[in-house]
Amino acid sequence: MIKLNKDFHPLCLNPSEAKRLTDEFKATKASVWNFDALKSALLETSHGKCAYCECDLTKESKYMEVEHFRDKDTHPDDVVKWANLLPSCKRCNASKGTHDVLSAPIVNPYEADPREHFLLKLYRLRPKTSIGKESLGVLDLNNSDRAVHVRFDIGESIHKSLESAFEILTTYKDNGATRTKNRLLGAVRDLLLECQPSSEYAATASTIVHGDETYEKLTDELGKLGLWNAELADLHEQSKSLALNGN
Ligand SMILES: [Zn+2]
Repeated sequence: MIKLNKDFHPLCLNPSEAKRLTDEFKATKASVWNFDALKSALLETSHGKCAYCECDLTKESKYMEVEHFRDKDTHPDDVVKWANLLPSCKRCNASKGTHDVLSAPIVNPYEADPREHFLLKLYRLRPKTSIGKESLGVLDLNNSDRAVHVRFDIGESIHKSLESAFEILTTYKDNGATRTKNRLLGAVRDLLLECQPSSEYAATASTIVHGDETYEKLTDELGKLGLWNAELADLHEQSKSLALNGN
């Protein structure tokens, strides 16, 4: 989970339309939130991902649902309230169900920074707060199949990429060749691109990269060699701001 922002209000939920949809919901219980313009607007705020687990909702196998943070049956006036809606995958939405966030609050990534509530250790999210603990249970964020195994695979892939980048670094120190330098910078850049807000499972990838000794050595060496450039520095800082490592 990463911090998200809603810095616009979609036209499809202008005041009169929102009122019409809310009245319709109250009268008929119809799924008035289930339309493309609203889904697209929500996906825009989450880089196309589930706001909770960060799976990519634009992949064909994934199905996006409009999640009501305060459940729509208890809070019908919020059924199409922009601030109450999140893009969610089917599994997170189903796990949360009609959980009452007023009596037992969970993290809303549009309102709170998940870094204040979670740590990632050994591929499991650990709570830092009672709200974090409640969120892990309600959203099933340490489910073995869809969460822990996925994080493990990301970790393995990152460790391999880091080892490979370090080997290229060693080669570059021997041969000083431009093509080796470009391969090295490309490898580090590609790795950091997996850790940006728009990347799937960015919090996991960022935490793993920034907690890895090889990455630290690599960036240190690149700095000493004068190869650490502005683009890498930006990507590094952006990803570091997502890491759930307690810093
Ligand atoms: Zn999800």
